[in-house]
Amino acid sequence: MIVLGIESSCDETGIALYDTQRGLLSHALYSQVAMHEQYGGVVPELASRDHIRRAIPLLQQVMTEGNTQLNAIDAIAYTQGPGLAGALLVGASVACGLGLALDKPMLGVHHLEGHLLSPLLASNPPNFPFVALLVSGGHTQLMRVDGVGQYELLGETLDDAAGEAFDKSAKLLGLGYPGGPAISRLAEFGDPSVYLLPRPMLHSKNLNFSFSGLKTAVLTLVKKQTTNICEQDKANIARAFVDALVEVLLVKCLAALKQTGLNRLVIAGGVGANQQLRAALNAAATKRRFKVFYPELEFCTDNGAMIAFAGAMRLQLKPEAAQRDYAFTVRPRWPLDQLGI
Ligand code: ATP
Ligand code: MG
Ligand code: FE
Repeated sequence: MIVLGIESSCDETGIALYDTQRGLLSHALYSQVAMHEQYGGVVPELASRDHIRRAIPLLQQVMTEGNTQLNAIDAIAYTQGPGLAGALLVGASVACGLGLALDKPMLGVHHLEGHLLSPLLASNPPNFPFVALLVSGGHTQLMRVDGVGQYELLGETLDDAAGEAFDKSAKLLGLGYPGGPAISRLAEFGDPSVYLLPRPMLHSKNLNFSFSGLKTAVLTLVKKQTTNICEQDKANIARAFVDALVEVLLVKCLAALKQTGLNRLVIAGGVGANQQLRAALNAAATKRRFKVFYPELEFCTDNGAMIAFAGAMRLQLKPEAAQRDYAFTVRPRWPLDQLGI
């Protein structure tokens, strides 16, 4: 079965072809970051318009690179939510138009299920069940995953997401948007002994997180500087920020493994690309004898491959989920643990 995947929930247009026999055939991505950078964040209306511009050229690219004819596609999976309504509508209408024109069924996919299953696309995929840490721009959740659609929420952030904390702190340090990769690179040059930032909810005895205080702590440090903040000091603050955030994520992952009795941990979402987080988790995994799995670096942030893959998994499990009435809705808010099979 060949599934075409379409992702357009935020500021990346991603298209991919996944074959249940041969694996990922091709994928293409266009990121709008350069366009949104000047505004310091995503402008929803501009995002929607740009998805319209990019979708068809990207589709043509994946068909060519995947050496596949449009009529060989068996189904079209699109991101139905959560995300920006206007942006989601672009992907959904492209999917619907293609489905009608080609007489192929379509399927709405949950964006976070795409992230959650993306490590299964890697060369050494985990088996179910596992604990998943979903750390993205809009979400920070710990899940127990027993299979496709079998998600139990163990804990989540009470305020900012980890990616959001990265982006907001980076902005305070004048590092541009999105700031995750930039603050992480800068932290490599920081001295860890200069500043100590709070570890929010580290000892909270549950699996919830809170990151808004961390961003405020960064703001306080920046404001304390009487003169222009020098590069070394920026790096020291970046280091203190990354160390605090990584320690909280690590401790909560260990607690989730203990609580569930599982020994497989899966990391998904954009912050999963973070090298300091990966180093801390890898060291803990060796010491405590659990296994940790990541998506390929390019599939940590938004992409079409994870949507094609999640769509294919769902259609294999439940072929009747394929929809042929071509009426589509998007779900800007959509809790993952209510998804079911
Ligand atoms: P959601 O999936 O919750 O709707 P999103 O799609 O915007 O949100 P992703 O695309 O999964 O989120 O991830 C983007 C986030 O990942 C941004 O906040 C970005 O700063 C962060 N990020 C990307 N690379 C890194 C990195 N190397 N280190 C830290 N953060 C990173
Ligand atoms: Mg993005
Ligand atoms: Fe995402």
